[in-house]
Amino acid sequence: MKRLKVSNNVIRRLPRYLRKLDELTENGVSRISSFELGHQLGLTPSQIRQDFSCFGEFGQQGYGYNVPALRDQIAAILGMDRGFTAILIGVGNIGHALMDNFCFAEWGFRLAAAFDINPELIGTVFNGVPIYSMDDLEKFLAENKVDVAVLTVPKEAAISVTARLTGCGIDAIWNFTNLELTEPNSPTIVENIHFSDSLLSLSYYVAERKDEIAARAARAEKQ
Ligand code: NAD
Repeated sequence: MKRLKVSNNVIRRLPRYLRKLDELTENGVSRISSFELGHQLGLTPSQIRQDFSCFGEFGQQGYGYNVPALRDQIAAILGMDRGFTAILIGVGNIGHALMDNFCFAEWGFRLAAAFDINPELIGTVFNGVPIYSMDDLEKFLAENKVDVAVLTVPKEAAISVTARLTGCGIDAIWNFTNLELTEPNSPTIVENIHFSDSLLSLSYYVAERKDEIAARAARAEKQ
């Protein structure tokens, strides 16, 4: 597949396109213009065309985009067809919730195993996923092809577990520990997840709206 250097902003928009195209497919829509797609996503048609042009020509002048074909191409660009394998480390509140409610398979990932230090969890199977001792981590990684580790251990354990994972040459870490793990020269790709980031963006817009309403009310009172 042709891969040009694509900006982070474009990459961040691709999952949104995918969700929208899945929704359109479910509703029986097989073709859509960049104008309509932009309208539905709150983006301009030129923004849509510019984003897709990073990966080659998807649409046809006067025809628009073939929804299932575009969906499959975006899924392929995102690597969803590569059959990536993940493991999860730390089966507590968040780890357990992910294993219970997050469908890794829907996004192209197989959750092969989980690891913990809690003897009550070790040796059990949750939703078909075996939970192993951390003592077996290196052996498992040596014997199995694993692409991504989902990190849901307490903050205090994050650095040492990360060192073990990078020592084993893991490609990527999906980090939920609230500890920023990104290191400039590390070969390990890290995606830091902070639920609060999303809530604080929302908080900003709520505050902005309330300030506008208050300013309008103050102007009206003056008149
Ligand atoms: P938890 O205490 O319920 O679960 C942690 C699990 O990790 C436990 O099962 C524990 O036995 C296991 N563990 C401890 N040390 C370990 C080690 N060295 N190796 C392997 N397993 C180990 O914690 P939680 O509530 O699920 O939170 C998990 C992490 O998520 C914490 O770091 C917390 O700060 C963070 N967190 C993140 C967000 C977010 O926005 N991403 C929100 C809340 C909490």
